[in-house]
Amino acid sequence: MKVLVINAGSSSLKYQLRDVTAGSALYEGVIEKIGQPGGEAADHTQALDLAARRLKAAVGSESEESEESAELPFEAVGHRVVHGGERFGEPVLIDEENLPAIEQLSPLAPLHNPANVLGIRAIAQRWPDLPQVAVFDTAFHRTLPEHAWRYPIPDELYQQHGIRRYGFHGTSHEYVSRRAAEFLDIPLDRFRGIIAHLGNGASVTAIRDGQSVDTSMGFTPLEGLVMGTRSGDVDPSILVFLGQQGYSAEEIDALLNRRSGLLALAGSNDMREVEAATEAGDERAIAALTLSSYRLAKYIGAYHIAVGGAEALVFTAGLGENSPVYRKLVADRLQALGIRLDEQLNLERSKQPRVISTPDSSIPLLVIPTDEERAIAEATAGLIATS
Ligand code: AMP
Repeated sequence: MKVLVINAGSSSLKYQLRDVTAGSALYEGVIEKIGQPGGEAADHTQALDLAARRLKAAVGSESEESEESAELPFEAVGHRVVHGGERFGEPVLIDEENLPAIEQLSPLAPLHNPANVLGIRAIAQRWPDLPQVAVFDTAFHRTLPEHAWRYPIPDELYQQHGIRRYGFHGTSHEYVSRRAAEFLDIPLDRFRGIIAHLGNGASVTAIRDGQSVDTSMGFTPLEGLVMGTRSGDVDPSILVFLGQQGYSAEEIDALLNRRSGLLALAGSNDMREVEAATEAGDERAIAALTLSSYRLAKYIGAYHIAVGGAEALVFTAGLGENSPVYRKLVADRLQALGIRLDEQLNLERSKQPRVISTPDSSIPLLVIPTDEERAIAEATAGLIATS
């Protein structure tokens, strides 16, 4: 089965055609600056048309028919949807009832869910009979116990506004924990581990018996680790204080979501640039990596407790998979847990799951490449096969 995986952002649309049976990506692309000057598409419908034309040109049939009637090179569409709220704990086949429910979650993810819905509607308009599946970034964290999901604030805030911890990057955390358990030959439902998904957005998840029992992102993807442009954890009183100083809600949001993190500390949110700067002796860059790796190591220590003793620590995503420098900074802080990095293995480059710790390390350190598109394609195909 072939599935088109769509990741629609407010002004971009990423797409990847997957062969689910072969487990491979056949074609991928991105359309940026949707609706913006110099962009290739005025809206998400146009962006999808453009994506479909490119897909057909690359892998489609030789049909001479018009574009609308020519056969599509895929049988279903899987969408990455950021927020599933409390309602969606599993992928769903999209219908007229649940699409408005996804839309109603927009206040919880104002940048993402409206764009996801636009992508779904654009496809429904063009190809009404094509099955579409929504795979939610929050869903894997449905198993968080109350002591991990609840904030210690008045209950009315949860009841009236849904203010609680949801967690994100779930598709990646689920996929990587499954791969880690396979790699270690441990049954998934007995696997205890810590997954550090370190990309431009970053989160760490505590896995107990194969389930998410804690995760560093909360009500929104701002909580937790230091990220490319996001602050991660700060004292909430800072926001109140800034409000009293005359900063608007939008300004505070932009400060914490787009102007903080590595960008604020080191002047760049691209880890490659920050690493190069540390090698050139740039003190800001060195301090930035020290601070962010220190905070990640503290989470790992805490999650070791949360899972009752982890059997593995896994690095994944852009930075987790590709930055030996950052992995070493983190691992060196974990020596109190008996964790020992093998510096040689850490430097090797590979797209395969692998161990980067020494044989006498208390638990293995692993690098396991994530593949959210693959996970979304498999979930989509699985749901269609059973419905
Ligand atoms: P992602 O969001 O998963 O695509 O990850 C993006 C992050 O990974 C950015 O901070 C990149 O700078 C970082 N990254 C990607 N490749 C490398 C690399 N070879 N070395 C260091 N960091 C990298």
